[in-house]
Amino acid sequence: MFSYWENKHFFHCDLAVVGSGFVGLSTAIHYKKKHPKARVLVLERGVFPNGASTKNAGFACFGSLTEILDDFWQMTQDEVLDLVEKRYNGLLQIRKNFGDKALSFKHNNGFELLDEQLISAVDQMEDVNKLLKKIFKDDVFSKVKKPEKLGFSDQIKVIIKNKFEGELDPGKYMDSLWEMAEKLGIRILTGISVHEITEDEGRILAESNSGKESMEFVANKIAICTNAFTKKLWPQSELVPGRGLILLSKPLNFEIPWKGVFHMDKGYVYFRKVDGRLLLGGARNKDFEGEKSTEFKVNPKIKSHLEKLASEVIFPGKEIQWEMEWTGIMAFGPKKTPLIQQVGKKTFAAVRLGGMGVAIGWELGRELSGLLHKM
Ligand SMILES: Cc1cc2nc3c(=O)[nH]c(=O)nc-3n(C[C@H](O)[C@H](O)[C@H](O)COP(=O)(O)OP(=O)(O)OC[C@H]3O[C@@H](n4cnc5c(N)ncnc54)[C@H](O)[C@@H]3O)c2cc1C
Repeated sequence: MFSYWENKHFFHCDLAVVGSGFVGLSTAIHYKKKHPKARVLVLERGVFPNGASTKNAGFACFGSLTEILDDFWQMTQDEVLDLVEKRYNGLLQIRKNFGDKALSFKHNNGFELLDEQLISAVDQMEDVNKLLKKIFKDDVFSKVKKPEKLGFSDQIKVIIKNKFEGELDPGKYMDSLWEMAEKLGIRILTGISVHEITEDEGRILAESNSGKESMEFVANKIAICTNAFTKKLWPQSELVPGRGLILLSKPLNFEIPWKGVFHMDKGYVYFRKVDGRLLLGGARNKDFEGEKSTEFKVNPKIKSHLEKLASEVIFPGKEIQWEMEWTGIMAFGPKKTPLIQQVGKKTFAAVRLGGMGVAIGWELGRELSGLLHKM
């Protein structure tokens, strides 16, 4: 039951953004900067964002050598280069807007471990470097001279360094977005699940998570930024959810002989050092079908694969004690390019960021805000 004042003041806005992950908040911020007087409301079902933005690994990455080579099978050369450029520019933009300290950004480079099966990628490294020179003005990939010094198992034959990658703390990135949204006067309401949108009229039907209160918001414009959960609001959207698992070890009682962000198995597996612990995640490719899910559950098959990699390949012969595990949900489609589309007279959507939303979320929000401005 709402009061006269609540009904009068809280349910109307110029822009309503559904979803408060990287894309939702970035959209709200870019729009509000351009329209300081607009009432911008963000509706989020979780207490915190509850999708991928605060569940991810914090890789500030744009594609390892084998991922980029793989992309050439599914996309044109121009599409691949355009996506790499967008991701890299996205990283530069968030660093410029929030600052490395606020993001805990560290430029520790990226590395890809190649086993016997993937080693042939090295033969194409120079060609890929040549193509990427247009963007980076320098070679991106190079072979690590003494890979054995990093202590991985001898299954790892070659390590490729990417000197433009880094790492950040996703919680601090989210904090920076919250702070900016608050300064600009954006209202974020949490614990509210949207269950229906009338795209042409700007009506949003929602309920509080307790299920006790139903409500209707009316907006001049709506932005759907619900990524993997979009089908509920826009059933025709072309996307498939993809769950990702992360394991975090207890603090390790030995020195880790490397730093930076590490990719394996064509980018499906990733690991880095966090506060003296091993953060290890991915391996969705070990059960693609099982991981096409929006449920935050741990797949035991994937967990045991990751645990095995930790004690056999990353720290051979060492027993790793695990402290935490969690999952997040991403969205994928036929191509790796995000889906940004008008879905009604008053509604746009920007979703399907795949596994690299740290890099492109901010710029996708800028693009969506621009489209909403013109609508
Ligand atoms: C395990 C894992 C590791 C990853 N690692 C990396 C990495 O290292 N580097 C990288 O660049 N990317 C990584 N990613 C991908 C990256 O996190 C995502 O691409 C990015 O966070 C997507 O942002 P988003 O705002 O589109 O979606 P989300 O963060 O999922 O935000 C969508 C929001 O919408 C809300 N929502 C959904 N439905 C409703 C509804 N009906 N009503 C109200 N609210 C709703 C959700 O609660 C959620 O908060 C990883 C992802 C996962 C899962």
